[in-house]
Amino acid sequence: MNISIIITILTVLIIIYAYYQKSVKYVKQNSILLQNLLNVNNKYKTIFKPFLPFEKYHQNCTCKQQYDNFNKDSYFMTMISENLDRYNALINDLNHNKKYYNIYQNELNNLLNNNFDYESLSRNSFISVNLFQKIERAEFKKNRLHPPLEFIIELCVSYTSPKGQNRYSKRCSINSNNILYYCNECAKVIEYKQSAKYQRSLMTDKLRYQVLNRDHHRCVICGASAKDGMKLHVDHIIPVSKGGKTELSNLRTLCERCNLGKGASYNPNGYN
Ligand SMILES: [Zn+2]
Repeated sequence: MNISIIITILTVLIIIYAYYQKSVKYVKQNSILLQNLLNVNNKYKTIFKPFLPFEKYHQNCTCKQQYDNFNKDSYFMTMISENLDRYNALINDLNHNKKYYNIYQNELNNLLNNNFDYESLSRNSFISVNLFQKIERAEFKKNRLHPPLEFIIELCVSYTSPKGQNRYSKRCSINSNNILYYCNECAKVIEYKQSAKYQRSLMTDKLRYQVLNRDHHRCVICGASAKDGMKLHVDHIIPVSKGGKTELSNLRTLCERCNLGKGASYNPNGYN
């Protein structure tokens, strides 16, 4: 190709590019729509909650069996239960952003539905109405806000054989709906652990023996023992029904008579 043709094409391209840049600058300075978008954006910039929309984790397995049996559910359940407050806050922020993003979009649609006087705007300028609107729409699209509306946790599980000959890896991810599910499951577990049913389930034979041993196999109120023909009970000092825990400090040995006399009553200032 002739060098002069190349130079001509390049010159034309540069002129077109310069013209386009000048047009963009003009539109940015004169568009009421873009000015309105800026105002709306400024309002919502402080409303939308900023956060990174993803987290990445890596789990290295110590053997192939662990890799094969890797349980994604229990991994995420543990991770989320250990950071429950943070993930609950994150779900709240997501819902907040979704709610205000809808309102933001409605405001933007209202802006777009406004009829501006493009004719008079371009009457005294170098730019056509058509190009003005094209640039305006492109800039509008480019400058709208994109707050985080979803959250993804990615996990890579891998195993490398001792000599490094075999490498295995698999990926999985969960989204905000899954996170919400795990948060709710964690809340259920916490609720159960605070329940009387769970506290009663903690009363094992081993613990019972520990209490009897500590109290020298005697009723801590009247001193009766099995030798006196009295059956010994292990009793919750603060009853489970009143939030008492099944742990050594809340357990004591009572004979059947003292225990039945006491029932589920609890007097915080005195004998129970
Ligand atoms: Zn007794």
